[in-house]
Amino acid sequence: MARSYVGEARRRGLGRRRERIAPIVERLAVEHSDASIALRFRSELELLVSVMLSAQTTDANVNRVTPALFAKYRRPEDYLAVPREELERDIYTAGFFRQKTTAIRGTMQMLLEDFDGRVPRRLDELVRLPGVARKTANVVAAELGHAQGIVVDTHVRRLSQRLGLTRNDDPVKIERDLQRIVPRADWARFPHLLIWHGRRICDARRPRCEDCVLEDLCPSSRLGLLSSPAPRARRARDGRAQAPPRATDAAQGGAAEASR
Ligand code: SF4
Repeated sequence: MARSYVGEARRRGLGRRRERIAPIVERLAVEHSDASIALRFRSELELLVSVMLSAQTTDANVNRVTPALFAKYRRPEDYLAVPREELERDIYTAGFFRQKTTAIRGTMQMLLEDFDGRVPRRLDELVRLPGVARKTANVVAAELGHAQGIVVDTHVRRLSQRLGLTRNDDPVKIERDLQRIVPRADWARFPHLLIWHGRRICDARRPRCEDCVLEDLCPSSRLGLLSSPAPRARRARDGRAQAPPRATDAAQGGAAEASR
C-alpha cells in the first residue's frame, strides 16, 4: 500500500477531496491547456491500434511506427490479409511485437464478426476485444467522446496519491475513487491534465513543488517526499525563483513518456 496523503490533507486543513477537486481541475486546465493525447491517428481504427501498440512503450515510439503502418493497413481486413510474420515485422519497433500482433489480429477478427468492422463505443464491448484491457478501453472510449471511466496510468496513479485523492494503489480502485469525486464531464480530460502535470512539474523522483500551481491544495507538497528536500534553500542559493522551463516542455514530455 502506497503512503496515503488523505489524512495529511485533513491535518493541514486543506479541505475534503470533493472540495479540492474543482480548483485542482480548474488550475490544471489553465496550466496545461494543451494537454491531450500524444498518439497520432486519423480514424477510430487508427486510434484503437495506436493505443494497443502503446502498451509497454512510449507514445513517441508508437508515432514513429504508425505512419507507414496506417498507410498500408486501412481496414480491419487488411491486418488479416497478410501473413502474421509480415505484420510482426511492420510493428517490430513498437516492442512486444508477437503479443501485439496476436492482439491486433484477434481484435480485427472480432471487429469484423461482431461489430460490422466498426470500433465499439461501450466499455463492456471494448474490453471483449482481444488484448484490450480496461485502460486501453478507457482511452479509446474517451477519445471517441464516450468516456465511461477515468484512465489510470502511472502518472494518474502517482498524482492522485500525492494529491490525497485516493488511499489506494490498485488502478481499478483508484479509478473508482476518482469517479466518485471528478465531475463526469471531466472524466476524459482529467487524466490528460494529471499526465501532463506529472511530466512537466510533478516528476516521480523530483516533484517541483515550488513551481506547482497546486501547492496550497496538495497534502504532499513540501514534505520532502522523494525529492530535493530544500527547494527554498536552492532558490535562495540561486538568488531567484525559477519559472517552469516552458521552452523545453516538449523535450521533457518526450523523455517522460518513457516512464509510461
Ligand atoms: S505540490 Fe508537489 S507533490 Fe503536490 S502536485 Fe505539486 S509538484 Fe506534485
